[in-house]
Amino acid sequence: MHSFARPASFAALVAAATVGLTSAALAHVGDHSHMSFAEGLAHPFTGLDHMLAMVAVGLWASQLGGRALWLLPLTFPAIMTLGAVLGFGGVALPWVEIGITASVLVLGAAVALTLRPSLLVSLPLIALFAALHGYSHGVELPANASALTYAGGFIVATLALHLIGIAIGFAATRMPVRFAARTAGGAIAVLGLVLLVTPH
Ligand SMILES: [Zn+2]
Repeated sequence: MHSFARPASFAALVAAATVGLTSAALAHVGDHSHMSFAEGLAHPFTGLDHMLAMVAVGLWASQLGGRALWLLPLTFPAIMTLGAVLGFGGVALPWVEIGITASVLVLGAAVALTLRPSLLVSLPLIALFAALHGYSHGVELPANASALTYAGGFIVATLALHLIGIAIGFAATRMPVRFAARTAGGAIAVLGLVLLVTPH
């Protein structure tokens, strides 16, 4: 077993950051009457749930290595798009918001605990979470061309967040702080837990 030691000051920092950031998570709902590429691009960076989960996917991909390094960051946006199509098509899916928040907790914990399951486990898990992230927006997309430009921006931002996670993961292995990536994963998991218990 790995021990995941975290100084109390770090926990306090996370708590303080959370107070400021939970309001950012609420950016999830908003005015969707006009949807541009730039808005699609901005949303995953302003919605805390998306941002944390997508960075965690990159972190996890860097920990898993091998084919997972590119399979995870490509599977997520692909299945996310499929989820958006399902939502847009009116397919009913339960527990979407809780599932999205749970994805932050689960993916953060996977990174913090350096879980390294086979692709048979990691890919379906990533796919399930990706579908929920996409679905939540598919249901609210307007039935016009702006939906496509918004989705384009959303997908580009998702890939960027995966790459940021991968970059952090790789940088962490070169840093004197050996557990930097796992600490980032732990912070993501803690924030996921806070989002889960915070009514929104
Ligand atoms: Zn959102």
